[in-house]
Amino acid sequence: MQAVNRIHGELFLPSHINLLDQAVTVSEDIVSDYFRLTTDYWLKNPYEINTLKHAEPTEIPRDAYAHLMKFAKPLCKKDSGADDSCMYRIIIYDNRVLAVTGGIERVLWPFFVYILAHELIHIARFAMFECTADEEDKRAEEEKVHDLTNEILTNAPVSGIKTVVDFFTGEQVQGLLT
Ligand SMILES: [Zn+2]
Repeated sequence: MQAVNRIHGELFLPSHINLLDQAVTVSEDIVSDYFRLTTDYWLKNPYEINTLKHAEPTEIPRDAYAHLMKFAKPLCKKDSGADDSCMYRIIIYDNRVLAVTGGIERVLWPFFVYILAHELIHIARFAMFECTADEEDKRAEEEKVHDLTNEILTNAPVSGIKTVVDFFTGEQVQGLLT
């Protein structure tokens, strides 16, 4: 818990969390449309979103804005009828996101959509192509997801998204989303 206390004051406000919730819906729609995912896709491939407030100390980073974890589905969830055995957790690092957006909502909005779309594209591709965890493959997969995110979002009807796409197009920021 020490790590969380140390960054107290750099956590999202309730208004930021509201915006994040809305961004989840928008990102999921955009990614679902692109990959033509069926309506029950996200039920079969469930994910949760954690911000630093609820992150385990071991999940506190490093230098990323967001991070995706994949893990085996708990037994109780396996009984729900979903046949996939994996679930996902997206961790969003409040402090890093706030540092780059200033917590200003019109800046934060496209930023949230971008980082969520990136992670949801990972999940879609994990499920479709069974990507491996091999280091070499991981790098190639990051590049693929990075390019896809930019391609899908460039013309998306999301206010301010072009600026965020440009921001993440710079090579120096590649690798900040994993
Ligand atoms: Zn990534």
